[in-house]
Amino acid sequence: MDLNALTIDSARAAVAERKTSATALAEAFYEKIASDDPEIGAYLTLSKERAMATAGQIDSLAEKGEKLPPLAGVPIGIKDVLVTSGVRTTAGSKILGNYVPPYDCTAVARLESAGAVVLGKLNCDEFAMGSSNENSAWKPVHNPRDLSRVPGGSSGGSAAAVAADMAVATLGSDTGGSIRQPASFCGVVGLKPTYGRVSRYGLIAFASSLDHIGPLTKTVKDAATVLRTIAGRDPMDSTSAELPVPDYVAELDKPVKALKIGVAKEYLGEGLDAEVRSAIEAAVQKLASLGCEIVEVSLPHTKYAIPAYYLVATAEASSNLARFDGVRYGHRAAAVRSLSDMYRRTRDEGFGAEVKRRIMLGTYALSAGYYDAYYLKAQRVRTLLTRDFEEAFKKVDVIVAPTSPTAAFKLGEKVDDPLAMYLADIYTVTANLAGIPGISIPCGQTREKLPIGMQIFGKHFDEATILRVANAYEKSV
Ligand code: GLN
Repeated sequence: MDLNALTIDSARAAVAERKTSATALAEAFYEKIASDDPEIGAYLTLSKERAMATAGQIDSLAEKGEKLPPLAGVPIGIKDVLVTSGVRTTAGSKILGNYVPPYDCTAVARLESAGAVVLGKLNCDEFAMGSSNENSAWKPVHNPRDLSRVPGGSSGGSAAAVAADMAVATLGSDTGGSIRQPASFCGVVGLKPTYGRVSRYGLIAFASSLDHIGPLTKTVKDAATVLRTIAGRDPMDSTSAELPVPDYVAELDKPVKALKIGVAKEYLGEGLDAEVRSAIEAAVQKLASLGCEIVEVSLPHTKYAIPAYYLVATAEASSNLARFDGVRYGHRAAAVRSLSDMYRRTRDEGFGAEVKRRIMLGTYALSAGYYDAYYLKAQRVRTLLTRDFEEAFKKVDVIVAPTSPTAAFKLGEKVDDPLAMYLADIYTVTANLAGIPGISIPCGQTREKLPIGMQIFGKHFDEATILRVANAYEKSV
């Protein structure tokens, strides 16, 4: 049995049937990380002591023949923007280089209480700002499918770890595409739930009205399993929804026949790579052959999504990142002359170039005299984008689109051109602005054998349907 290739389902079964132990499983993953991660760079911190303690508890339950929790012994990795009690959490930033949180993110705590084994913390763009993982203050991540290319971002480590068999599943965060785009670049499944579906307690905030936590996995079923575990109301996050959590796994195999699949022309226009386009078209045909009805829809305000996103996201970031001042957490500049000198030097030394750029953009957009022209206008555009989806979802059950206009690009290719990097988010930011769920699943590859991702959007709180369509597609290929 290749322990590193297991899915959540097969790993859990192997532990329950005593074909392996949770301890042996965790050890196999640490060995894989030791041998392969030096050239990939997915992990920033390993939490071996914590992992082995959980694995030991699972194994003693198994030895006593007791009923095992639903994720018993499943080795997982956590994006480094999710806080973990006693385990260093940096958000990919030097300013939190020495930060050891005193509490756990709710999503992590829920996975661990379901028996999952936390292997460690995963590399990401600094404060989740980026699309290539090259903004990590520590090191870049290399795409396991082609080491000369980026894994996508900002959850690059989370996608690479799953793709390289260095975790069975991982958690990422998605503010404008950071789960879905790296999933597509690395050829894995990535799910961004509805806003409010999963508690954000313990997620280091980038842009609070756009931030989401979600899974990256090898299969759609595994994504459903993780979502079922982490979703649901949390008293620690007042924006978490008071709605019951469906059994996403049980609903996966319901038929997809006669479901209406929307295809939006705005997502298949200029700038879309020809190979990505044909992969998406073939996938749509595949869904039609499964009995789905294909319906053309229009999302007319899509062209304003990138400017609206980069105004709202930077405005919220400039406010959220004010807390990193050298007083409360992490890095503090040495030998300062005054309080303002300490603030200035701490932030100058602690933040990287992209974070500083966004704080400046956001502060500008929120400043008196510009607020109405930029921030308020962006919020209005956001409403129009949300209405576009509401109109479209009157006609269809889900909408299919590419995840990214291209497959993974080369490391270094876009680092000097932030605007080109921002434009790569064109197909993903809309779901964050509207708060709707979206999943990216593999749908073929380019001639150079780079993975291509297809995105499926759904109605608010209708993750069950996008998972069902994704599962039907995954099984058909
Ligand atoms: N690439 C986008 C950005 O840089 C999205 C990031 C994210 O989803 N965290 O803002």
